[in-house]
Amino acid sequence: MSQSVCILGVTGSIGQSTLKVIDRHPEKYNVFAVSAFSRVEQLSEICQQYHPQYAVVPAAKVDELHQFFKLKNITSTEILSDESGLIAVAEHPQVDIVMAAIVGAAGLLPTLAAVQAGKRVLLANKESLVMSGDIMMKAAKENKALLLPVDSEHNAIFQCLPQNYLQLDTGGKPQLGVSQILLTASGGPFLHHTLDELSKVTPAQACKHPNWSMGQKISVDSATLMNKGLELIEACHLFSIQEHFVTVVVHPQSIIHSMVQYVDGSTLAQMGNPDMCTPIAHAFAWPNRIETHVPPLDLFVNDTLNFKQPDTVRFPALQLAREAMKSGGLAPAILNAANEIAVEAFLKNKIKFLDIPKVVESTLNHIQNSNADSLELILETDSLSRRYAIQLTNSLST
Ligand code: NDP
Ligand code: MG
Repeated sequence: MSQSVCILGVTGSIGQSTLKVIDRHPEKYNVFAVSAFSRVEQLSEICQQYHPQYAVVPAAKVDELHQFFKLKNITSTEILSDESGLIAVAEHPQVDIVMAAIVGAAGLLPTLAAVQAGKRVLLANKESLVMSGDIMMKAAKENKALLLPVDSEHNAIFQCLPQNYLQLDTGGKPQLGVSQILLTASGGPFLHHTLDELSKVTPAQACKHPNWSMGQKISVDSATLMNKGLELIEACHLFSIQEHFVTVVVHPQSIIHSMVQYVDGSTLAQMGNPDMCTPIAHAFAWPNRIETHVPPLDLFVNDTLNFKQPDTVRFPALQLAREAMKSGGLAPAILNAANEIAVEAFLKNKIKFLDIPKVVESTLNHIQNSNADSLELILETDSLSRRYAIQLTNSLST
């Protein structure tokens, strides 16, 4: 029977790859609901092609979407708006699978709603887990939601871990013979830049990733290595493991997507061409496998794989994230909020590339940390941190 899919963030890079996977398996999956934020015309084209029951946009975009629907004679899709609309589709009883592919903190409540409704949740929106790790993981357990990693590294780790590992109570320590997780990082577009060169890089250069084609925010995160920092936190929550069991390995070719080491000396790696359709298809079909258009890895072409330590002097964001995870509580949410503000300011040419980690560090030092016991507290801290980070970016404004 066909499974109904809700794609939150359908107009983005992950949203588009999700549609590619669905296109290959029209008998298995149907698009039930979609959401967008600014690209309303693109959303209307998606509705024309896939006939979802619901499309969600910000209230300010509803009229514009109605106009496009009229123009294209789309009558079968109902328009919902804002966060309440996103939550309604994420927890809709007819939905089987939710692709959480909104970027940033805006994805938190809809992703959590999908988890609380016990869905199969394909998690791309790492920021939501970074902000609310304990709450999200607890909700998944209590509501028997399947929270499956789409982030290529976490999907790779998941593939290399023993079966049923996600269901274990680990107490923060690796179990079943696992000794360590090796989280790979491409190193981003500025891997070999000096500090002086880094001080002058532009948003356009930062958004040009050597191996992956992604949205702007994650591209900048990859360039600062904050993406790896967020992923470190994501891995700690997904696999219930303390941060010192996760080692970051720079692997510029992005062929190995991450590894798991075992006590007997084994290291298992998941490899493949860098294309998000592979982890997306894996999360759709797990524990089965479905075909994608991604060509098999040709090791005679990709015949050199390199590995090195990350440089935390040129890329301090990774260490900031590790420290935030070590501190625990609200620190990861503070880190995430400050980073979102700093990245936005950098993209608008308001601050310099090297200011991004500075804004994050100052915000972490300024906003008080405590236990992240409730969602309200997390959201309140998120807005406090944003306010402070905005002040900082304004004062740094070039
Ligand atoms: P994009 O910027 O390409 O897409 C983001 C999507 O979210 C778009 O559909 C956008 O709508 C929507 N959106 C943006 N802001 C809001 C908001 N405030 N409220 C509701 N919706 C919003 O990002 P990516 O697809 O690259 O990334 C999505 C998530 O997946 C991120 O969390 C990222 O870290 C993660 N991820 C991405 C990978 C990749 O390869 N791209 C790899 C691993 C993880 P619109 O386009 O209409 O403005
Ligand atoms: Mg990743």
